Amino acid sequence: MKALNTYIKPTFANFILPIIVTVIGTLAYDFIKDVPLLSSLSSSLFWIRTIIVSFFTYSIPIYVILIIIASSLIILKVYNRLTKDIDVGAPSFLRYTSDNLKNWKWSWEYGLYSDKYRIKNLRPHCLACDYVLKYDKDTWGTCRAECPNCKKLYLNHFVEDIDDITMMIEHRITTNQYTISERNG
Ligand SMILES: [Zn+2]
Repeated sequence: MKALNTYIKPTFANFILPIIVTVIGTLAYDFIKDVPLLSSLSSSLFWIRTIIVSFFTYSIPIYVILIIIASSLIILKVYNRLTKDIDVGAPSFLRYTSDNLKNWKWSWEYGLYSDKYRIKNLRPHCLACDYVLKYDKDTWGTCRAECPNCKKLYLNHFVEDIDDITMMIEHRITTNQYTISERNG
């Protein structure tokens, strides 16, 4: 028992403890600094160095090293899974920001209003050059959309469409019938 203790104590103090400190330190650093790749990489290098030094200094049995490596991988995997889940927390439809509806291409953004996402800045695109159109209604209710790029004018399009299109987009989101185009992804 005494022999076991004299073996475990230096192993714990010189080998396992630095790894535990590194893991906790890296996790804390990641949460604070938000650069998981760099800090995880530097901690991995630190672990490898620690393992090599411990191996030659204290003649650690190979199975102990394998156990440590395996548990380190498990810790990293669990940690990556946790941080991935946090990223997934933002709804995926937020990347759905353009679609062809009623034979016209539309794009929009999302705004968060009282904890609910709502569509904002819904704009039609120019049929000729795909630029987002400047959209206006004059005092007589005439709709006027102009392309800022090729100056093409679209009169009396989109008058009732804006509300319809908003509802169609919301419908596609709630029924999961939307595709995220690569350009927006
Ligand atoms: Zn145009």
